[in-house]
Amino acid sequence: MLERLREELWLLHLELPRNDLVKWTGGNVSGRDPETGYVVIKPSGVRYEALKPSDMVIMDLEGKLIEGALKPSSDTASHLYIYRQRPDVMGIVHTHSPYATAFAAVGKPIPVCLTAMADEFGGPIPVGGFALIGGEAIGKVVVDAIGTSCAVLLKQHGVFTIGASPTAAVKAAVMTEDVARTVWLAMQIGQVEVISADDVESLHHRYTHVYGQ
Ligand code: 13P
Ligand code: ZN
Repeated sequence: MLERLREELWLLHLELPRNDLVKWTGGNVSGRDPETGYVVIKPSGVRYEALKPSDMVIMDLEGKLIEGALKPSSDTASHLYIYRQRPDVMGIVHTHSPYATAFAAVGKPIPVCLTAMADEFGGPIPVGGFALIGGEAIGKVVVDAIGTSCAVLLKQHGVFTIGASPTAAVKAAVMTEDVARTVWLAMQIGQVEVISADDVESLHHRYTHVYGQ
């Protein structure tokens, strides 16, 4: 079932190694089907290049297996927790992308010092507390710390992004690593300056309402 969403999720998973956001089997993507409310997620510990659309696992919001032969991602309970708390979220991505995860390793948010950050995130990328892998704990940290952003750093672990579609969440993950790298480089040559709240709001509004076709 959900053939189209399985295929979409499979293609989006391939974007993670292509954009240098993951190594080996780290990270995962999920998407929520608007009709059934079911969630399609990566199987745990499968190499990206070996993944097939038919490997994706379908769960309901309470964690009941609907369809799939493989064990779902170890972050499944956390993805489901986020979907239950945030009806606006239709896609979730988790990565250990290196520059963003370096900020997470030291528990520091990424300051909003680039127009690209104001555009995509509408503020700094916040950092949440440490949580163990396997249950809902990571999901709780994400929901508590993410605020109005579409990305959050998970202390000593990595990145979670959310979106109104699985593609939007993948885009947010790509942008998170891109700005984390630029900010890290900037920090090597000087002190970064935070953009004023008014300018951040104006940039974010332009990007979300005027920018593009
Ligand atoms: P899975 O392969 O089980 O999705 O785990 C990857 C990961 O990054 C766990 O946080
Ligand atoms: Zn992880």
